Amino acid sequence: MTHQAVRVRGLRKRYGAITALDGVDLDIQQGEVFGILGPNGAGKSTTVEILQGHRDRDTGDVNVLGQDPGSAGRDWRSRIGIVWQDESAPAELTVEETVHHFARYYPRPRDPDEVIALVGLEAKVRSRVKALSGGQRRRLDVALGVIGDPELLLLDEPTTGFDPVARRQFWELIRKLAAEGTTIVLTTHYLEEAEELADRLAVIAAGRVAAEGTPAELRDRYGSLATVHWTDPGTGPCSEETATPTRTVAALMRRFDGEIPGLRIARPTLEDVYLRLSGQFGGTAADEENAR
Ligand code: ADP
Ligand code: MG
Repeated sequence: MTHQAVRVRGLRKRYGAITALDGVDLDIQQGEVFGILGPNGAGKSTTVEILQGHRDRDTGDVNVLGQDPGSAGRDWRSRIGIVWQDESAPAELTVEETVHHFARYYPRPRDPDEVIALVGLEAKVRSRVKALSGGQRRRLDVALGVIGDPELLLLDEPTTGFDPVARRQFWELIRKLAAEGTTIVLTTHYLEEAEELADRLAVIAAGRVAAEGTPAELRDRYGSLATVHWTDPGTGPCSEETATPTRTVAALMRRFDGEIPGLRIARPTLEDVYLRLSGQFGGTAADEENAR
């Protein structure tokens, strides 16, 4: 029995001329909430679809719950729960009908009514799926993801398009599932979401893991870099990126023999760190959201 839920080495995937994944390594432990964070087009969905066994890879080793998703069978499939990036429930059925219907696909399903309560849709059991709000539909998608009592739940951008209240409610749901011991892998392009939910996270950009660790580790590792700005009377504005800004300032003091012209020290926020790692120098995730 392995304690590692997911192990990926050197995963590569191309779509024609586009390299979607360019050598991804991942280690996800059982019982962990793992966030895959990255901007649109980074390769998040491709990664998750390969982990689910719904997309072929070009090269690389992939092990999910002890098996290769490319060749694993029905038994393995029933141990994995999936919440797709797009909604999957049929529109004409009621919530109750849908959850009961999907339960029949699994050898050892959870109790459908209990799952409806878990995702907070008790008041909506008799509503048709098409009458649900976006947030409620997403909760139903999660209900369908966990109805088979999976060991591993994979969610692809589960809260994209949510308002802040719905997003917070959804986080509570994920925390409940994590507390039950389900291993959870979720992709997101919201840094805040990864920070809130993930025990560990990987930032992916252009098909590679740009950074990986706990949110605190990432903050320590990359957030400790400071930029010291000053003005040199000869050459004008100068700056130096350094992990030891005090030493830089001390050196400048000696050079200027006192006050340093235009001295300013900037520390990056985790948001800055993320934007850098993900190569989004030009704008923020919020800008990108507004542009859509
Ligand atoms: P993300 O989920 O992080 O937005 P994707 O994995 O969907 O990223 O996409 C990664 C890259 O692969 C993008 O450049 C995207 O346009 C491309 N891509 C994804 N799916 C396909 C496909 N079916 N055919 C061609 N290109 C694709
Ligand atoms: Mg995607």
